[in-house]
Amino acid sequence: MPTRRATKPVYIGGVKVGGDAPITVQSMTKTDTRNVAATVRQIKELEDLGCEIIRCAVPDMAAAQALGEIKRQIKIPLVADIHFHYQLALESLRQGVDCLRLNPGNLRNPEHVRQVVRLAKERQIPIRIGVNFGSLPPVDGIGKSGGFSRHMDMVNKLPKAQQAKEGEYSVVDHMVATGLWEISLLEDEDFDLIKISLKAFDVPTTVEAYRRLAALVPYPFHLGITEAGTAFGGSIRSAVGLAVMLYEGIGDTIRVSLSDEPHEEVKAGYEILKSLNLRQKGMTLVACPSCGRADVDIRRLANDVEAMLKGMKSLVKVAVMGCEVNGPGEAKDADVGIAAGVGRAIIFRKGQKAKVVAAADMMTALMEEVRKVAEEKGAPVGV
Ligand code: SF4
Repeated sequence: MPTRRATKPVYIGGVKVGGDAPITVQSMTKTDTRNVAATVRQIKELEDLGCEIIRCAVPDMAAAQALGEIKRQIKIPLVADIHFHYQLALESLRQGVDCLRLNPGNLRNPEHVRQVVRLAKERQIPIRIGVNFGSLPPVDGIGKSGGFSRHMDMVNKLPKAQQAKEGEYSVVDHMVATGLWEISLLEDEDFDLIKISLKAFDVPTTVEAYRRLAALVPYPFHLGITEAGTAFGGSIRSAVGLAVMLYEGIGDTIRVSLSDEPHEEVKAGYEILKSLNLRQKGMTLVACPSCGRADVDIRRLANDVEAMLKGMKSLVKVAVMGCEVNGPGEAKDADVGIAAGVGRAIIFRKGQKAKVVAAADMMTALMEEVRKVAEEKGAPVGV
């Protein structure tokens, strides 16, 4: 795997992003930020799942004013998501948030941005420049605060990554230029606590934009594919896009944007990082796809095992295989596994048979073995 891109780290609260820090998983609340109790409840659920940074929408002043109370009740760093009104950014800073996300397409008055940057600098609070395909400034309008109708911005006419002809100004160019415009505003204020994202729904466009900017600036990247979709399609789309960049060493923190509960975003984020061996977290399930040799209903068994070990803290790789003949060998990489047979099951460790149990006892026997492995690893079992 190529070496990770060298970046200048920033601290979002106590969480380091960039440099040699582990790639973090973040999410965004889906509650009304003004409803402090509901928002805190959702964040606490996400904390339990391992979410490392949380962002809240700030649609109005009441939402900005709720951030201080939310922050007091949670453990992970809080990011305020700001569009359109710079006063909301100023109030969020006064409320003590750990980071701001500013959308350069929606906050285009340089003087307003400067005011926000000055207060952020005074308080040493990082800013994420969140460029988003859906809210890019008009073509030829970067840095201009008025005079363009959102319906005449020409952004939709720009060619995407694979459509652009040689030398033609593309969406990728426009996203990178938008990011660089805001970076220069921040740098002009001698502010460098910067983190950047360049998200589009189109995966090649997103990847090209990040790649391009990676060579131009030293700041850490927040990766994401915007409006990726529902849990199934969106997780795949995000995994495809993020994996290309992560494998190239690009990316310091990730958010999987799904039309689903935020815990699905956190789970998907960790699965992506685990698949690339970039993070390790909890149980990893190896399960065979089943075939004509299977002696049991593998789909049910795999789901039952996954449910049983959900929330497990120790890093155990558990296999669920459908037949005794091929199962242990095919999953020899797993710490512990189960190969189901007719009326019985083999419990194996690193591909070697540990014991044979009756089918009715296989879940209990597997659990017992998982506990032993977890204890041997010296990690908390957590289940
Ligand atoms: S472990 Fe057995 S049942 Fe599962 S896919 Fe392999 S051969 Fe088929």
